[in-house]
Amino acid sequence: MKGFAMLRIGETGWIEKDRPACGPNDAIVQPLALSPCTSDIHTVWEGAIGERENMILGHEGCGVVVEVGSAVKDFKVGDRIMVAAITPDWMSVEAQAGFPMHSGGMLAGWKFSNFKDGVFGEYFHVNDADGNLALLPDNISPAEACMLSDMVPTGFHGVELANVQFGDTVLVIGIGPVGLMAVAGANFRGASRIIGVGTRPNCIEVAKAYGATDIVSYKDGDIADQVLEMTNNKGVDKIIIAGGDVDTFETAVRALKPGGIIGNVNYLGGGAYIKIPRVEWGVGMGHKTITGGLMPGGRNRLEKLGALVASGRLDVSLLLTHRFEGFEKVEDALYLMKDKPGDLIKPVVVL
Ligand code: NDP
Ligand code: ZN
Repeated sequence: MKGFAMLRIGETGWIEKDRPACGPNDAIVQPLALSPCTSDIHTVWEGAIGERENMILGHEGCGVVVEVGSAVKDFKVGDRIMVAAITPDWMSVEAQAGFPMHSGGMLAGWKFSNFKDGVFGEYFHVNDADGNLALLPDNISPAEACMLSDMVPTGFHGVELANVQFGDTVLVIGIGPVGLMAVAGANFRGASRIIGVGTRPNCIEVAKAYGATDIVSYKDGDIADQVLEMTNNKGVDKIIIAGGDVDTFETAVRALKPGGIIGNVNYLGGGAYIKIPRVEWGVGMGHKTITGGLMPGGRNRLEKLGALVASGRLDVSLLLTHRFEGFEKVEDALYLMKDKPGDLIKPVVVL
């Protein structure tokens, strides 16, 4: 089969591989739609997870089951399915401990385009099919289903990590597709004020549609200075970080109230340390919590978030700014993601 791969750090290309083998608990899926992710860009061009050779890229997609293992109970050939970017081993001790995303080691629940070939192939392999697949509801298009692989669950996980409560003032740093879903999630959780940070006009417009009440540009000066001015020097209750870099934590800690929580879902592509400002962190006693996590993945979450989209309460189509037709277009879609033109939120390739 053909796949679009990372050949080595900084280099991509089409490669030929054998169709993946199906173990007893697994499924083999033929894609219906695929979407590149900013994480693919960090992986290929920043070498953020280290060297990978001839690894098929991609972790956002949906498809049709073409083969199932003998132990798979709930899925059969011909089922149209959704799958999350994170596909844990549900029998692992880490999953039992409540951290399926780290099953088998830190971040090891993230298998596609990390520890094995990703979804940008003519076929892709899904481990623990009963735990990691979900049936694609009829009224969710394949293009929309791609947003349920990663953008929705990751943005919403940021909201969970920050533990957004009714009435909170929430700062969402970064309003790319992940941050936009964090805005939507904070809105669902009853935030009273949602301040989004970003500059791309499309993203700003969509952030407002998802519930952002205010927008701050990180290019107009320090984020914390602007947020403190907007909040009578009080700062915000919760912060979700979905953009920026290792230095972003410094401004986030400054913008946060004592007792507040920062939930990071940003994939930090470079830098050895994150920065926590000592004084603004209450000289170590400010009860300002900093947490960060890979989204959990799994069928239960996919079914529930899918239900939110199927019900019409969450409209993910606002994220889909660029549409391509045909498998071979994953290359163009990935390079569009790399170049990030001003009007881009998410590209999607429909097969
Ligand atoms: P985008 O690049 O589309 O969006 C990034 C956002 O951050 C934009 O709004 C951008 O603003 C803003 N930004 C850029 N630089 C700064 C800065 N210095 N300070 C503040 N804001 C800044 O990314 P995505 O939404 O696609 O993804 C966000 C992050 O989440 C990525 O790092 C991605 O790899 C990661 N990720 C993490 C996952 C997880 O499970 N934890 C899963 C999926 C993705 P502007 O556009 O105006 O420049
Ligand atoms: Zn992704």
